[in-house]
Amino acid sequence: MPTEHDAEEEDVRASLALHPRSISEEQMRRYEGWIAEIFTAFGLDLHTPGTEATPHRFLLALFHSTAGYEGDPKLLRTFPRECKGGPDCEVSQLVEGPIPYYALCEHHALPFHGRAYIGYIAHERILGLSKFTRLVRIFSERFTVQERLGQQIADTVDVVLKPHGVAVYLDGEHLCSQMRGIRETSSFTRTTFWRGHYAENASLRTEFLEHVAARR
Ligand code: ZN
Repeated sequence: MPTEHDAEEEDVRASLALHPRSISEEQMRRYEGWIAEIFTAFGLDLHTPGTEATPHRFLLALFHSTAGYEGDPKLLRTFPRECKGGPDCEVSQLVEGPIPYYALCEHHALPFHGRAYIGYIAHERILGLSKFTRLVRIFSERFTVQERLGQQIADTVDVVLKPHGVAVYLDGEHLCSQMRGIRETSSFTRTTFWRGHYAENASLRTEFLEHVAARR
């Protein structure tokens, strides 16, 4: 019979929205041919010692930069606190970060990167900083957008820790708007996400943003 723990792991797994890839060597060789054709047409000379393996390296780099779809088995273990509810249960917020992240924008497949800060008001569980880093990585190493990245981090912290509240702050530099199009070289996108007590309590949000500002 499935235990409560199994059901919980199932919830965590669902919130991770995994999509493990399986690509055969034959497929990879075919993809390399396509990339070689495109890069050549766009102006790259693939007949030099430095570039002959570029289509292969490009595909590997792309595959590894999107490894977040594969999941992370080390993410599922949490650390219980002493507290089991009651009036003293609610501690002040914990803020983790900055956690650097690198993602690919799903509109252009070009990188955006920045730093994540995660705040939460623990209930019965806490997570170590390394787990938060893994969590940020699992969602950033994908084709995504900054909005979804923040939502997925906030929702998963909610599922994993069942805290009283979650706050996520992301800043991001988007190469797709810096290298092309409007060439907005100073563009810096900031997004915030609030769950639980943070959504209801403005002074908690202010306190969180002060923690973030102090570390930037
Ligand atoms: Zn883009």
